[in-house]
Formats: sequence, structure tokens, C-alpha cells
Amino acid sequence: MDTLSCALLPASCTLCGCPLPHLSSVPICDACWMDFPVLSGPMCACCGDALDAPTPSLCRACRLAPPPFVRAVAYGLYQDRMKAAIHALKYDGLYPAAKKLGWMLAQAIGQLAAEAPSEMLVIPVPLHRSKRAQRGFNQARSLAVYALKALHKTYPAWRLKLASSALLRLRATESQAGLTRRQRRLNVRGAFSVSSAVAGKDILVIDDIFTTGATARAAAQALVRAGAASVRIATLARARRVYTARRAASTYSSSVQPSF
Ligand SMILES: [Zn+2]
Ligand SMILES: [Zn+2]
Repeated sequence: MDTLSCALLPASCTLCGCPLPHLSSVPICDACWMDFPVLSGPMCACCGDALDAPTPSLCRACRLAPPPFVRAVAYGLYQDRMKAAIHALKYDGLYPAAKKLGWMLAQAIGQLAAEAPSEMLVIPVPLHRSKRAQRGFNQARSLAVYALKALHKTYPAWRLKLASSALLRLRATESQAGLTRRQRRLNVRGAFSVSSAVAGKDILVIDDIFTTGATARAAAQALVRAGAASVRIATLARARRVYTARRAASTYSSSVQPSF
């Protein structure tokens, strides 16, 4: 049936263009899924950025200005296949990929299992309503929904509750792409408003990418100001500093195979 369908409906992988052997609702081939760049090597115990050496355990940025979150984790590196897949999800409507990408996000969140509270409110970074209307969905929320489904199976005792409306974006901020670190910080400063439901709660903020951490810091700051007991961040992918990314590139060749 698959072969027949492929002959009738030839499809190719969105990321590499090779013909797909099976009829699939997600047009990404197995080889591409295997080739998503995962994070490895010494990383900052707080923000997850790459370190040149395992000690000290915190990067310079986190030592100089401790972030308002306890820890930020990510599944993979924001480059190559990962970058292309996130781009396809957000801008080309590759919505079916959210399930597998959500599984990857669940792997990242699993890194918190040993130290995070047994109960957390899960808050996707919101889009401003104009952008949400334009895109039709909030990719952070979709990823969070699928990640929570996966985590419900792997960590059944972990009580993670989705609270999508606890954080709102007050103004339509410019896209962070192409801005410097400082411009990003200013761009998102004061961009969020928080519902009173977060007071005293441990929070897990979800986003698709962590670039300089400006959005994560701004969201965490707003949550802490509103009385959140603690904030952790989980993203599907993260960027890393260029000087270490090049050095570490050779260690990203191995890949984790999602098990479905
Ligand atoms: Zn492919
Ligand atoms: Zn750090």
C-alpha cells in the first residue's frame, strides 16, 4: 500500500529533498531525523551554553549576572536539520512535525527530572495575538502539548500542568532574528504580563529556541516578580557561542534516534 501510494503521490523530504519511501503525514525522511544535531560536551550547569572545560561549572555570563531561572535545558543545537525543521514548522505550516519535535523536547525536559519539583506549571512562551493570528498557532504551545503527552508516559508521577494563558505578550515585539544581544534584551524587556495563578508555583517555561536567552530571561523575570517560586526553561534547540560551536562541531556527529 505504501509503495502504491508513493507511486501515486510522490513525496520528498522537506529538509533534504530525497524521495520518501513511505507515505507519511510528516514529510521528513528517517535519515534527516537521525541527523538532528544534539548537544554534547561540557555545558553551563545553569544556562546550558557550551563551556571550554568542565570547571567552573557556570559560564561567565551566568557567573556575572545569575539568570532569574534555575536552569535552562535544550534537546539539540539550533543549526542544520534542526534549524530547518523549526523553520518549516513555524513558517511553512509543517504542523505534523510538532509531534516528533515535541518528543525531542520531552527528552530535554527529562534532564530536569532528578532535581525539579514533582509538580510544575508548564507555560509556553506566548506570541503576541497579532502574530498568533498570522501564524495560526503558537509553536511553543504545540511543542509543549506533545512533550507533556510523552512525559506522561515516561514520568507518570511527575505532575506537569499546561497553563497556556498564565503568560501574555503585551506588545508585538520585533523578531529577535538579526538583533544584537543588547538589542534583543531591550526588545523583550517588559514584554510580558503574568497572571496571579503563578504565585508560589514552580514554573517550566517552554519555547522552540534559546538564542541569547533574552526572551527566557524576560519571561522568567516577569514570573519571579509575580511571585513564582522557581522558573526553569526548556527549549527544543539552542544556539551556542560561535567560538565553542566550531570546536564542538565534531562531537555533534552522533545522533539520538527518536523511538516511536
Ligand atoms: Zn531528508
Ligand atoms: Zn550559563
